[in-house]
Amino acid sequence: MMKSRDAVAILLQQELERFQETHPRSYALFQKARESLLDGVPMNWMVKWAGGFPVFVEEGHGAHFRDVDGHTYIDFCLGDTGSMTGHAPAALVDAVSKRLSQGTTFMLPTADAIWVGEELQRRFGLRYWQMALTATDANRFAIRLARQITGRSKILVFNWCYHGTVDETFITLTPEGPRPRRGNLGPPVDPAVTTKVVEFNDVEALRAALEPGDVACVLAEPVMTNIGIVHPAPGFHAALRAITRETGTLLIIDETHTLCAGPGGYTGEAHLEPDFLTVGKAIAGGIPGAVYGFSQSVGERIREHSSLADADTGGIGGTLAGNALSLAAMRVTLEQVLTSDAYRHTRELAERFLSGVQTVIHDYRLPWNVTRLGSRVEYWFRPDPARNGQEAAEHVDPLLDRYMHLYALNRGILMTPFHNMALMAPTTTAGDVDRHTEVFSAAVASLMN
Ligand code: PMP
Repeated sequence: MMKSRDAVAILLQQELERFQETHPRSYALFQKARESLLDGVPMNWMVKWAGGFPVFVEEGHGAHFRDVDGHTYIDFCLGDTGSMTGHAPAALVDAVSKRLSQGTTFMLPTADAIWVGEELQRRFGLRYWQMALTATDANRFAIRLARQITGRSKILVFNWCYHGTVDETFITLTPEGPRPRRGNLGPPVDPAVTTKVVEFNDVEALRAALEPGDVACVLAEPVMTNIGIVHPAPGFHAALRAITRETGTLLIIDETHTLCAGPGGYTGEAHLEPDFLTVGKAIAGGIPGAVYGFSQSVGERIREHSSLADADTGGIGGTLAGNALSLAAMRVTLEQVLTSDAYRHTRELAERFLSGVQTVIHDYRLPWNVTRLGSRVEYWFRPDPARNGQEAAEHVDPLLDRYMHLYALNRGILMTPFHNMALMAPTTTAGDVDRHTEVFSAAVASLMN
């Protein structure tokens, strides 16, 4: 049987003390950082690390990194997917260093852009491509274009989705109806004005929401990954595509995290046919860069509905988007790092990770489950995989979550914060995965009476 909550809270306190004692330099840097950085971090999410202050990084190579206190870690977080390539792959270092020495940004294209456009066509099947700097921006631009060409104002998202800092998406379903998501800072308008929200895998609710014909686009991850991994039910994608087509609604598939499913993301694996597709984070190997693609017919409609004369003030694009450095990084990432061979390796490792965790869950008869999507694995504190965002959200357990993360961190393993998620890099090894299983098993043992 599992220990009481109070006993787990005591265990967490012991881990916090251990973390503080063993990370004096990170702590000192954190204190110094508080003098100039709000809450001692350069980006607000970094306050949420399990130890109470973040580990300050010295350097990372492959699937490992070292902190300023000299500890090394197996990195299953990989910059929350931004470093899915592993840290500093040699080919990326070479290509990016060369481009750095030749100029990084001109607001003019380089030939790398064509190579990347053609490779994206091949991987994802969409005709036209444009570049942005972040997945957030790629989503924002796709939404704007969808609104422009459909003449409709609303978008639709799935409950508990995450698509970056896109204003329209911070909405959740409550028993009283759609409400701004908790923590939504300074919303420009109530998101209910701009957005409809339904549960993932709920075909009837989707149909009812799209039938009035006022929704420009559905923005969806093909498999939800930001509230645990929630897989589509059999037939869901076919229904989503059919209903969006019937109602003249465009379909934006956000592959930013699901790029872990295969070289062409989940779209490539499942032969989806979105109107738009967005990817950021790992697409440029950790150098800022993102892409959005669209079909031939969407491309034609964009040309009909937009004026090149106003291209620089149309609300999409940006000075640094499509810059030479991002494009050089995307090219080498696609050509030499996130290759089919790399996926073969990372998917096998993810399977090994899953079966290690599954064995522990089984041995201790825990009411937890573990799921995999390509090279990504996630365990969740409920007995069976959630079928939608709400089911998953109801089983978020901040105390257990923090304890499991910190227990792992104190033993040299970094998991993705805000999730119990692990991502494999091409340089992750079976030994790394087995070490996780060992530590996970010990963490679970410590929770038992
Ligand atoms: N789409 C998805 C599916 C994401 O998970 C994220 C970030 N977690 C984003 C978009 C936004 O990425 P970024 O913060 O790099 O803009």
